[in-house]
Amino acid sequence: MTEKDVPQVAAVPSAKLPVFHVQSAEFVAAARRPEELPPPTKLEIAFVGKSNVGKSSLLNKLLNRRGLARTSSTPGCTRQINFFDIKSVAGLELMLVDLPGYGFASRSKGERKEWAELIEHYLLERSTLRAAAVLFDSRRGFEAEDADALELITEHGRVSRKPPQVVLVSTKIDKVPARDRPKLEGRRIDERRVVPFSVEEPETVDSVWRALLKAADLWPLPAAVSAP
Ligand code: GDP
Repeated sequence: MTEKDVPQVAAVPSAKLPVFHVQSAEFVAAARRPEELPPPTKLEIAFVGKSNVGKSSLLNKLLNRRGLARTSSTPGCTRQINFFDIKSVAGLELMLVDLPGYGFASRSKGERKEWAELIEHYLLERSTLRAAAVLFDSRRGFEAEDADALELITEHGRVSRKPPQVVLVSTKIDKVPARDRPKLEGRRIDERRVVPFSVEEPETVDSVWRALLKAADLWPLPAAVSAP
């Protein structure tokens, strides 16, 4: 058999590693009142957005665990702050923090006050909060309540820390007609780039991870943690 006869095998492209290669992810705490918040032990990235914006769906994709962050249809879980401890294969540890969704017109005044106190307490006082994702539905656009959330996060608060860096995420982009996608992809709000996301488009998980890690000052990952 000559060299020419040897069947040529096309090089198999090496499987692309995810930006954050999840090794473990677990739900570790829930808080309904400020005094129930767990001790601040790790860097935290918080997630805020209107109820039904797709926050749990995004969290499940980032955590790479189906159903770990429960969706808004789960009764009783929407008024608490949920903490997820996450570790990458390379040893990077973080806490992803799911804040209760805003925009419940049907809630009583008392409930809304309780909610605002909890959220404000967390956003303004948490010493380990490094970055926050503000989610909005691509079809509805960035609305007044989203702008309020952004403003709250970027206030300095009462602790001596930098205000957390914000990542704006426009969710459910698969529902946007193809002709409107380019507009969405280059979009900026308040000088901030908007990161498009859809549960239907796996590559968008990586772009959200990259934006979050950059915002948290963790990107590019140090050599010690970028390779398993
Ligand atoms: P949450 O209330 O913000 O936690 O929102 P959920 O994650 O529970 O999502 C609300 C609804 O939107 C559910 O029916 C999801 O299946 C749906 N949803 C979430 N993300 C997407 C997405 O990227 N694309 C589409 N088409 N639907 C989505």
